[in-house]
Amino acid sequence: MEPSNSALLKLAPVTTAEVADRAALHTPRLRAATTRVLRRAPEGTIILSAHPDDAALSLAGTIAAGLLAVPLTIVTVFDRTDFAGPGQRGGLDTVSAIRAQEDETFCAAAGVHLERLGMNDACVRHPNLAIAALFERPMLEPAITAELLEHLNELADRFPNAQLLAPAGVGGHMDHTLLAEAARASRWRRPMFYADQPYALRLGIAPIDPVLTIRHAPCALQAKLTAAAAYSSQPAATDLVRLLYRAAPGTPIEWVTPT
Ligand SMILES: [Zn+2]
Repeated sequence: MEPSNSALLKLAPVTTAEVADRAALHTPRLRAATTRVLRRAPEGTIILSAHPDDAALSLAGTIAAGLLAVPLTIVTVFDRTDFAGPGQRGGLDTVSAIRAQEDETFCAAAGVHLERLGMNDACVRHPNLAIAALFERPMLEPAITAELLEHLNELADRFPNAQLLAPAGVGGHMDHTLLAEAARASRWRRPMFYADQPYALRLGIAPIDPVLTIRHAPCALQAKLTAAAAYSSQPAATDLVRLLYRAAPGTPIEWVTPT
C-alpha cells in the first residue's frame, strides 16, 4: 500500500463546529527539529504500539505531517486483550477483534502497514490486578521480556535499515515500560522513543531534548481528533480528546526523543 499521510484526515472527519472554531484559534505551528534523522531511514519507520491505539493516539499528528521515513509500519504488540474500559472485562476474542478492527481502520486510512504480535496484554496476564495497579507496580516478567526481545530482534533483522520508534513508557503502564526496556535491550541501533499519549498530556510532562515536537495547532489537532475517533471503544481516546480541548495553543502534544 502506498503511504498517504493526507489520507488520515479522510478518516471519520471531525466536523463539529466546536472543533472547527477551536482549531481556527490556533496558529499553525509545527516545529520539527532534526527530523532528517527520522526521515533518513531507507526502509522506513517501524512504530511499536503497546496496545491497539497507542501509536495512533501518540503520533497521529507526526504521521499526518509526513515527518517520518516511509513506509510506515505499526507493530501492535499486546493485542490480545479483554480490556473494555475501567473495571470492565469483556470476552477475550470479542474485545481483541473490536480493537483489531479499530487499528485496521486507522492504519488503512493513514496509509500505514499494520502487524500484530498477538501477545497477551497486562489485563489478561494479571486478571486479578486492578487497572490502577497496572500503572503502579513495576513487575519483572522475564518470560514476557524474552518474548519481546525475540520479536524485536526479528524485526531488526528483517528491517536493518529502518528507524524504530518505541513508546517511552510515560505514565508507567507496565506493558509500555516492558516494551520501552525491550527496545533499548534489543539489536535495534538508535531506537527513538515517543511520548505516550494521553498519559504525557495528563501528567503535564514536557519534552526533554526532543528530535521532533508537534505543538497544539489546527493540523495536528485535527489529525489527533480523527485518530481518537477511530478508537472509540477506548477510554484513552476520550481522555485524549478532553485533554486536547484543555491544552493551550502551542503546547507540545507529540514528541520523539533519543532516550
Ligand atoms: Zn497502551
